[in-house]
Amino acid sequence: MQIKDALANFECMGYTKLNQEEDEGRRESCLECGDPIRYGRHDKKFCSPECKNRYHNRITKASQAAVRRADTSLSRNYEILSLLLRQGVRDLPLADVVAMGFNISYVTSFAQCGGVMVHYCYDISYRLTRTRMRDIYKVQARPRKK
Ligand SMILES: [Zn+2]
Repeated sequence: MQIKDALANFECMGYTKLNQEEDEGRRESCLECGDPIRYGRHDKKFCSPECKNRYHNRITKASQAAVRRADTSLSRNYEILSLLLRQGVRDLPLADVVAMGFNISYVTSFAQCGGVMVHYCYDISYRLTRTRMRDIYKVQARPRKK
C-alpha cells in the first residue's frame, strides 16, 4: 500500500490531518515573523511566500531531526544489546545498561508473551523490570521453506 493510500484510508476512518499551522481562522500576524498581515484571503497565515517557505522548511527540518534522533538511539541500543550478547550477558541492572547509553524510550516493537511484556530492538528481544534488563536474546530467523 502506498503512503498516499494509507493516509486516505486514515482520513476515511474519521481521523483528521494534523494541522501544523495551529489555529484556524483569521490571523492578525504572520506565523513566521509576527509581522501584521495587511491583505489577502481571510485564512492567510503568512505575510509573504518567503515566510511561508521558511516556516515549512523549519517544520520539515524538525521532523527530520526527530527521525534522526530516534534512528541514532535505536542504533546505539542495538550496539549495546549486541555487545551484551557477545559477552554472554542476559541479565543486568537497568542502571548499568542506561549508563552504557541505552535509551529505554526507543523500541522497534513489543509483544505480550504469556503475561510478560517483551521489548524488541530489531531482532534482539529483552524484558524490562523496574530495576533490571532481563532475558536478552537474539531472535532466530528461520529459513523459509521452499
Ligand atoms: Zn512573515
